[in-house]
Amino acid sequence: MSRAGAEFEAFLRRRGLRMTRQRRAILEEILGSRSHLTADHLEERLRRAGERAAKATVYRTLAMLVEGGLLEAHDFGGGTTYYEPILDRDHHDHMVCIGCGRITEFRSPAIEELQDEQARSHRFTPVTHSLKIFGYCARCVRRRSPGTPPRRLPGPAGPVPASQPSGPIRGRPR
Ligand SMILES: [Zn+2]
Ligand SMILES: [Zn+2]
Repeated sequence: MSRAGAEFEAFLRRRGLRMTRQRRAILEEILGSRSHLTADHLEERLRRAGERAAKATVYRTLAMLVEGGLLEAHDFGGGTTYYEPILDRDHHDHMVCIGCGRITEFRSPAIEELQDEQARSHRFTPVTHSLKIFGYCARCVRRRSPGTPPRRLPGPAGPVPASQPSGPIRGRPR
């Protein structure tokens, strides 16, 4: 059995519960996905795998996996909870595209250090954190601005100097 399976089984035992076929199937499915899934995604995957699990079972099992420290639940806006396996994974944060829902993971030691520094300066002891950047992925930016060439054309002005602030909205009067 996988380490996650063993940990989940131990967690269930502490609750006086058993590892059932359905619980195992749910665990294996979400561990195998290596991405961010909703309960609906999971239900669909289980169905395709020939596993029958009621939605209530899926939700309850997901909640137990979060409690047992095997999954992390994310609110990426829009009112849907996304789940991702966290066992044996490094901490990372997310960029969320509000156009198409694409989720991009990123790791920045510099940002982590700054957050710790802020916590220390407020004499705050952090336990966990979740940083989400909401916006538009490159594909959605291209789709949303018709007529804009995908790449900036080389012009007489040359590259924008680093000191000049350049936001996502270009070429509009301020
Ligand atoms: Zn997008
Ligand atoms: Zn993630």
